[in-house]
Amino acid sequence: MAAIFKKELTREQLELLFTSDDECLRFLAEVKWENGFICRKCGNTNYCPGKTPHSRRCTKCKKEESAAADTIFHNCKFPVHKAFYIAYNVCKGKEDLSSYELARRLTLRQMTCWNFKTRIRNALQQMDSLTDIEKSSIGKILS
Ligand SMILES: [Zn+2]
Repeated sequence: MAAIFKKELTREQLELLFTSDDECLRFLAEVKWENGFICRKCGNTNYCPGKTPHSRRCTKCKKEESAAADTIFHNCKFPVHKAFYIAYNVCKGKEDLSSYELARRLTLRQMTCWNFKTRIRNALQQMDSLTDIEKSSIGKILS
C-alpha cells in the first residue's frame, strides 16, 4: 500500500492523479509491474494490452489482470482518482482530513469516505506486521 507512494510525487503529478482515472490506472500499472509482468496464473512474463485501460493480458493463458487488481483500489465503487486522493491523504497528508471534509471536497457520501479510509488504515496496519522480506513482495504491499 505505502509502496504506491514510496516515490515522491511532484505537485503536477498529483494534480493529474487526483483528477484523472486514466492517470491513476497508468500509475498503478507502473508501480505494480515495475519489475516486469508476471502472470499470476501461469508465471509467463509476456503480455499484450488487455481490454480495460492499462490492464495486461498474458500471451500464454490469456488471463487478464487489471491495473487495480490486488491493490486497495480493486472493486472500488467510486472513481479511482477520488480513492487515490483519499489514500494519498491518509498515507502522506500533513493533516488528518475527516471523512466529512473528504466527502465535501470529493462530492462523495461521508460513509463512502469513512469506509475507504478504514480500508486503507487496515491495509497499513497489516503491513506493519509484515517482515521486510514480505514487504519487498510488491503484491503484498499493494493489496
Ligand atoms: Zn498466464
